[in-house]
Amino acid sequence: MANVMPTIAPQPTEVSKPFWDGCRERRLVMQKCEDCGNVAYYPAYMCPACTSEKLTWTELSGRGRVHSVTIVHRPAAPAFASAVPYAVALIEVEEGPIMMSNIVGPAALETKIDDDVEVVFEDLGEVTLPRFRRIGK
Ligand SMILES: [Zn+2]
Repeated sequence: MANVMPTIAPQPTEVSKPFWDGCRERRLVMQKCEDCGNVAYYPAYMCPACTSEKLTWTELSGRGRVHSVTIVHRPAAPAFASAVPYAVALIEVEEGPIMMSNIVGPAALETKIDDDVEVVFEDLGEVTLPRFRRIGK
């Protein structure tokens, strides 16, 4: 796929595998605590808000807003050399958690704080990555 940004592929672990499986199925999922209702990211064995171990993988809306963004001009690793410049952002998803990802799409480099975004999924060999694009841009 020509538009896929190069990256260093993550290695799913026992606790994060459902997250990556969801991405493969084009579903953004995170763990929701059955005791306090907290939705958390990153994948973990217990709720970071109340330490409950009753966590259920829940599908999210896939929408959010840009909490912070930077445009990278100097690649952080050789794997990213062909991608610069690119946008790295903290995305506050509608359900609350903040996750780091890339903004992709034709207007990615004009991304601003508070822009509305939606998840897109990019296949990278064995792993599918969640990235975001600006809505209506
Ligand atoms: Zn909890």
